[in-house]
Amino acid sequence: MENIAYYNGKISSIEEMTIPMNERSSYFGDGVYDAMFTVRHIPLQLDDHLRRFYRSAQKIDIEIPMAFDELRALVLDFCRRVDSPDAMAYVQATRGVGMRGHAYCYAGERASLWVWVKPDVLDPMDRTYRCITHEDTRYFHCDIKTINLLPNVIYTQRAQEAGCDETILHRGERVTECAHSNVHILRGGAMQTAPCDNLILPGITRAHRIAQCRQMGIPVIEEPFTVAQMMEADEVFFTSASALCCRVGEIDGKKVGGRAPELIGRIQRAAWEEALEEVRQLGG
Ligand code: PLP
Repeated sequence: MENIAYYNGKISSIEEMTIPMNERSSYFGDGVYDAMFTVRHIPLQLDDHLRRFYRSAQKIDIEIPMAFDELRALVLDFCRRVDSPDAMAYVQATRGVGMRGHAYCYAGERASLWVWVKPDVLDPMDRTYRCITHEDTRYFHCDIKTINLLPNVIYTQRAQEAGCDETILHRGERVTECAHSNVHILRGGAMQTAPCDNLILPGITRAHRIAQCRQMGIPVIEEPFTVAQMMEADEVFFTSASALCCRVGEIDGKKVGGRAPELIGRIQRAAWEEALEEVRQLGG
């Protein structure tokens, strides 16, 4: 056969295999993979690749639903069954299938296992190659609402394990945003929030709270603040499409905010009134 695929017990060609929409790989990139190349139907460094695969899965709390030796036998069998002696063998494990939600509790009972083998060749060694250079900016693209959300998934899970609602992220002392919302503080009668650079997602809700504060005569400072400033702030709140203005009362087990209840109350009321007005305008 030309190629072959396995997904959670089903076997077919790669083209015929179908994956449920609620696969967490498609929403979050919530999984790990490994890849090998074959020579004469034998995958090179098979055991090293599979050991890394199991290690990667363990690091993000995914239990691969097949024992090492069984998976090893499956990969070897697939490599033999594919017509081409030169092929790529691919293994992937994801946190499974479930309604979209960052925390692990939304995933199904079992992780998903994907395996496929398709014709491919090693890069030839009898030629030279041309390259470019690029600054390594991976993990510095938080302004793009991508579906590469594995770190956000893990931070949300950690919050849930701690019996909390959200994880506030910082790079060194600088507070950036949360696992799935933006975070802001009130101090000295002003709203302070991280500026829109590559370290935060420019939240729609954030922009609306800023515009409303300005309309209400509440100054807004779009400058980074530190963890220490947040812990001492008059109020701390987070915003997102599902959290119009949510007040934070505790961070890492310490009480925070509570010193400007009237001001945060005004912002919350304004947020709700704006929502109702929008609904009215659209005939709701
Ligand atoms: N930051 C992150 C990482 C998010 O995932 C979200 C929302 O999903 C936000 C901020 C808030 O953005 P918005 O107000 O547009 O929902």
